[in-house]
Amino acid sequence: ALFRALGSEGVRVMMESALTARDRVGVQDFVLLENHTSEAAFIENLRKRFKENLIYTYIGSVLVSVNPYKELEIYTKQHMERYRGVNFYEVSPHIYAVSDNAYRSMRTERRDQCILISGESGAGKTEASKKILQYYAVTCPASEQVQTVKDRLLQSNPVLEAFGNAKTLRNDNSSRFGKYMDIQFDFRGAPVGGHILNYLLEKSRVVHQNHGERNFHIFYQLIEGGEEDLLRRLGLERNTQQYQYLVKGNCPKVSSINDRNDWKAVRKALSVIGFNDDEVEELLNIIASVLHLGNVQFGAEESGNAYITTDTQIKYLARLLGVEGSILKEALTHKKIIAKGEELMSPLNSEQAASARDALSKAVYGRTFTWLVNKINLSLAYKDDLYPLSKNASVIGLLDIYGFEVFQQNSFEQFCINYCNEKLQQLFIELTLKSEQEEYESEGITWEPVQFFNNKIICDLVEEKFKGIISILDEECLRPGDASDLTFLEKLENTVGGHAHFVTHKLADGKTRKVMGREEFRLLHYAGEVNYNVNGFLDKNNDLLFRNLKEVRALGLTVLFCCVNAHHTSSLCCSSILTQCFDREELTDKKRPETTATQFKNSLAKLMEILMSKEPSYIRCIKPNDAKQAGRFDEVLIRHQVKYLGLMENLRVRRAGFAYRRRYEVFLQRYKSLCPDTWPNWKGRLADGVSTLVKHLGYKPEEYKLGRSKIFIRFPKTLFATEDALEVR
Ligand code: ADP
Ligand code: MG
Repeated sequence: ALFRALGSEGVRVMMESALTARDRVGVQDFVLLENHTSEAAFIENLRKRFKENLIYTYIGSVLVSVNPYKELEIYTKQHMERYRGVNFYEVSPHIYAVSDNAYRSMRTERRDQCILISGESGAGKTEASKKILQYYAVTCPASEQVQTVKDRLLQSNPVLEAFGNAKTLRNDNSSRFGKYMDIQFDFRGAPVGGHILNYLLEKSRVVHQNHGERNFHIFYQLIEGGEEDLLRRLGLERNTQQYQYLVKGNCPKVSSINDRNDWKAVRKALSVIGFNDDEVEELLNIIASVLHLGNVQFGAEESGNAYITTDTQIKYLARLLGVEGSILKEALTHKKIIAKGEELMSPLNSEQAASARDALSKAVYGRTFTWLVNKINLSLAYKDDLYPLSKNASVIGLLDIYGFEVFQQNSFEQFCINYCNEKLQQLFIELTLKSEQEEYESEGITWEPVQFFNNKIICDLVEEKFKGIISILDEECLRPGDASDLTFLEKLENTVGGHAHFVTHKLADGKTRKVMGREEFRLLHYAGEVNYNVNGFLDKNNDLLFRNLKEVRALGLTVLFCCVNAHHTSSLCCSSILTQCFDREELTDKKRPETTATQFKNSLAKLMEILMSKEPSYIRCIKPNDAKQAGRFDEVLIRHQVKYLGLMENLRVRRAGFAYRRRYEVFLQRYKSLCPDTWPNWKGRLADGVSTLVKHLGYKPEEYKLGRSKIFIRFPKTLFATEDALEVR
């Protein structure tokens, strides 16, 4: 009766009164912004919500999250319950809504899901992935066996963080590797297994840290928290400042970190995952060995040859790794060369020896990390022979990977990371933009195709066979003779110099572009321009593997002595972890190891394949300030991220089509009370019911279209007004 009395005009008047609240807290979906092309309006909306502690906002189904840098009371069990089984738009934006939505799509549509989390360091990606995991651990059905899986899934985090995270200037708990984690669910929707893929661990941190930064957490945890007799066995002192690999950043303590407590948590997590005491001890042997290696110092004999000045370290290393001290000493100060078919030991100078030592430390740590991930995977693997994972099992993948990076100086690492982000953008285009247009087609809706920039051209520039940047880099890495970072740049100029997305200081007419350095190339990424300095590209791409084959042999020899050879000399015990990490093949010349960039390219290609087969959800994380402080909203910094995350383009594409689509039954169910003809139940065809309803609400013909099974609404304000009418009532 009320509706009849009011008529559609009355409903509109009621909606106006809802406006005041929106003025204060902003809109919960950017699609609803009046002025949607304005970046200023976008940021203003973020600011309003941030001030009210509303850190989540949608762009359609994409979740934008701003790191609050304080604990908010929005992750309780009650909150989890509130989002369970509820439609996306019926509750305020939340990471639980995204989690639940993915879970329900997986269950009802039987389609594998993935949740892609991006953003710069410190923006909250890892916290987001933990929140999602917790949501599933709490809300999904469980049994005793499943409880073990849930525990292991949750406990894999502290272990990976101990070995793969570090304090940096940007984030006290910064992940120094990319991570993709599959959670497997059985036919009842209970989590029964998991699998982790890791990407590009920042190994250089093992031997060097910038000022104000630290090495990986585990080193400090072990030294601060390790029991007396454990430290004695490992030959370690309880003083981090004794170790060369821990003093470079001059930052032994971090106020937000309690290494001793974390140590306890990690020890517990390791045992939940299923490491026994021997395995833990062996793992710690390696961590201690790296610290001892770092303290191995070299002097120079008169001839210039390196000799080892510190005997204690060798003593401990020999014991921990199970090799003879004299062999180790020789391996650390010599390289193996082959002259006239014969193997000879040729001495290194002290500088060469130091860099070989560091390369060895990095290799040992990096491979141990990979071993650890494999070990966790074994523990997470679904292993019930009685109930093999049936076809009904499905997967939700979580990707927590570095966002687009632009620094003052950008090097090989940024090149890899930004290439990775180009690939993810490709995926976004393939999975989201294209599929959106396909939906219009299948629903029989006429639409204006949306223009968007397809970044495939940039992906090709980087990864194409023979003439892509990575190919050219590999070619230079392999070329004997005078190959250097600069000859690599020169080759780039000759090969891709004319490419629309590649720029160097050289202009077509032979003049030089003044604003660019002579050691730089610039890529015009989809998210913006980045200058890369080629310094170090060749070395980093070679890793320790084969830029200088002779040097490599020296390292191979060390490792060979440490692991494989020792294994054959039965009197010597040896680290079984390291034996698994370095396979013998690789140390001989038979197998040519892949370069870092090519390895990364291949693992990204595999990742894309995995993600392509799934339905994606997106979480875009934003860091509000550089001071890691609550309540500070640094506009310049945020504008930067809005740009690099491609949020405005995201919004534009979303707005250009139909902002909303809802299945007829869902739409009717939600709004039927707003029209006397559809309340309490509509008896006829669903499409007719929806048509009657929207006409009553005063929708104009240009505001919506009716497809085969869904209503498409062009302007968000139309739906927003309807939502408001529900609220006011
Ligand atoms: P990233 O993985 O993107 O580098 P993290 O997820 O490690 O960033 O977040 C950095 C820090 O920010 C965390 O250690 C935590 O202190 C804080 N933080 C991030 N997300 C939240 C959140 N949702 N609530 C409270 N604090 C958060
Ligand atoms: Mg992280």
